[in-house]
Amino acid sequence: MAKQYRIDLMSNASNVFGNPFHDLSSKMLPRNLRSAFKVAEMVWNHMDSYRQGLQKIVRYFLTAVEIRGVSKEISKEWDVLLNQTMDIENTLTLLGDDYVVYGNSLSSLAFPFLRYLVCPRCSLSVRSIHVDYEYKDAAFHVTCPNCKFKGEFKVIDRRLVHPDKIHVIRWNLHEIDITSNPYGFGSAQYVWRIPTWFKQKISDSDPFFLDTTPLEFLTAAANESDVLINPKLVCHLKIENLSGIHTGGQLLRGSQNRRDRFFVILKLAQILLTHRRIVGGNTNTIIRLF
Ligand SMILES: [Zn+2]
Repeated sequence: MAKQYRIDLMSNASNVFGNPFHDLSSKMLPRNLRSAFKVAEMVWNHMDSYRQGLQKIVRYFLTAVEIRGVSKEISKEWDVLLNQTMDIENTLTLLGDDYVVYGNSLSSLAFPFLRYLVCPRCSLSVRSIHVDYEYKDAAFHVTCPNCKFKGEFKVIDRRLVHPDKIHVIRWNLHEIDITSNPYGFGSAQYVWRIPTWFKQKISDSDPFFLDTTPLEFLTAAANESDVLINPKLVCHLKIENLSGIHTGGQLLRGSQNRRDRFFVILKLAQILLTHRRIVGGNTNTIIRLF
């Protein structure tokens, strides 16, 4: 009597037949969102035809922003601000690139300001770029040119209404932790983990960063803290998952197309192996990807 094997989608018939759903690419699936982002970036950077195809898709659907439902005068003002001053179309294409590669795009609007330092004794107010200061213990220390007081000055940031300086922050997705609660209410929680290089700039008292960075970010960097971003100030574009897939954030759509991307990775591995045969290079790079 012939031996019978039980097989279903999740088993491999007692190892006699290979399960078609358990292929090599499945075993090498990135285990977390950070790894998935890295793989997506690698494919984007190394495969020109893939990158250009996605860029074409993003740009095909974008037009200049149209202002409707307001008077002609106001419409013209918005047109000047968005299309001419801010070059919003170019910004949208870049956000679109993030969206199709990562499955996510995070952005915020940043308004310019002028930073003033105010003497606590004589109330002299002076632009931070016009005075020598020392930034230590999350505070600006100045010797007052008027009353000679030496110590911590109060910081006042005066917002500029000039549209030229308004710009869009594209958040680095590697630095943002996104948490959502599918069983609760409210929007997601966004935490910016300040990168080491930025903290170093602050601890080095680099005036360019100290004069132009919002005070909350400076304080957090100086205190080695993270920043909890007000979700109302974040525009989060995301490709939604099925209800059965929940990662606390959003799973990269590309990881679901892992087999296609795996072919690209194999191609890279082939290049690395060829490189080793020719010039004696090493193949560690392909291993470190996962
Ligand atoms: Zn003073």
